[in-house]
Amino acid sequence: MTQRCDALVVGGGPAGSTCAGRLRQAGLNVIVIDKATFPRHKVCAGWITPSVVESLELDVDDYRRSRTFQTISSFRTACLGGRTVVIDYGRPVSFGIRRCEFDEYLLRRSGAALELGEGVKSIERRGGDWIVNDRLSSPLLIGAGGHFCPVARRLGRRREIEEVVLAAQEIEFEMDGRQQAECRVAPEAPEIYFCEDLKGYGWCFRKANFLNVGLGRLDRRQISSHVADFCRTLQHYGRIPQSLSEKFRGHAYLDYANSPRELLDDGVLLIGDAAGLAYPQSGEGIRPAVESGLMAADVVVEARGNYGRGRLADYEERLGKRFGRRDIRSHAQNPSFPDIRRKLGRMLLSRRWFVRHVVLDRWFLHRHQKPWKPADFTARDAADLV
Ligand SMILES: Cc1cc2nc3c(=O)[nH]c(=O)nc-3n(C[C@H](O)[C@H](O)[C@H](O)COP(=O)(O)OP(=O)(O)OC[C@H]3O[C@@H](n4cnc5c(N)ncnc54)[C@H](O)[C@@H]3O)c2cc1C
Repeated sequence: MTQRCDALVVGGGPAGSTCAGRLRQAGLNVIVIDKATFPRHKVCAGWITPSVVESLELDVDDYRRSRTFQTISSFRTACLGGRTVVIDYGRPVSFGIRRCEFDEYLLRRSGAALELGEGVKSIERRGGDWIVNDRLSSPLLIGAGGHFCPVARRLGRRREIEEVVLAAQEIEFEMDGRQQAECRVAPEAPEIYFCEDLKGYGWCFRKANFLNVGLGRLDRRQISSHVADFCRTLQHYGRIPQSLSEKFRGHAYLDYANSPRELLDDGVLLIGDAAGLAYPQSGEGIRPAVESGLMAADVVVEARGNYGRGRLADYEERLGKRFGRRDIRSHAQNPSFPDIRRKLGRMLLSRRWFVRHVVLDRWFLHRHQKPWKPADFTARDAADLV
């Protein structure tokens, strides 16, 4: 005997919880299954842009009452070993959250039925339904299980080319009194340091008394030694404490330009990291996770119970309009920067104008893109669906 629902979401991160919440608002009976129990740790710096707050319609006062919500108003950037540029916006332009708190808050807020602590082990198609783990069934399966999502594995890739992953390592811990005294990172001013070969960047980010240090690269070779060198440099210049309380943890994910994954099929859609949607220049993945969750929910509602591939295809169109066309070859075939481009890049990264208007405003903050607003569901939409 299986437990049936209108939509089964695999993964309760920001993509899954956002999509589940929207589908619940439209009157669907939704189950989210996740292998973790929440709160759970997620390797992430926890930087969110204002559009995330807006798209999620986050009640900031409620959220920050008992959770970390760090305001960011400036940035300190440099190429490792190069000149430091400080850009002060004079007002909040981003926020810092802790993923263990943020993800749990969104998941509980979604109103979906939760099946936590159970990994997806089997996915079968029987008749028009998806059967997961032999006990949950639904005509609609949403793959939101992050980079290693089992639904993405089942859908496969559009072209059998190697996936070029963003590899990253991170540490987050609460500083004790001594560590706080040694840490010169200001909470409202995260620090970003580009690798000399421009294949990635490191960060140190203080959220109240929590310190997050990490480094991500579009080249996973020797990531641990890049991280160790980065920490030594920060400690040498007295930016972070001499002793760090945790061990670095790593994770990989795909940026939108490099993801060859299939995004949908009959009765199934991928969202967030499962689809490989992070912004290529910054690696920001929470915003695309939230936006894709909302887009997928809109397409599902408009499909009015007919989840054939043709009816869901609009999801891919909407992603293309929002994030641009995928050009999978560009990075995959040219992962290295010629010397001349590296020199030019380093020179530009020491110029205030370039850092402010291109690196921060465009690549990291996406200020040219308005927040994604979900479609309004009418009472009739909801009545049609149940
Ligand atoms: C080091 C690092 C730093 C980052 N920093 C930032 C940042 O500061 N800002 C930003 O916007 N983005 C950042 N990102 C990217 C961001 O973390 C992801 O893009 C984002 O978490 C994607 O959300 P998601 O909901 O798609 O997936 P996830 O948050 O990964 O959630 C997937 C969920 O699926 C569950 N799951 C996985 N497999 C299974 C299974 N077999 N069965 C059941 N459940 C399963 C997992 O337990 C998890 O809860 C960073 C990434 C890394 C690696």
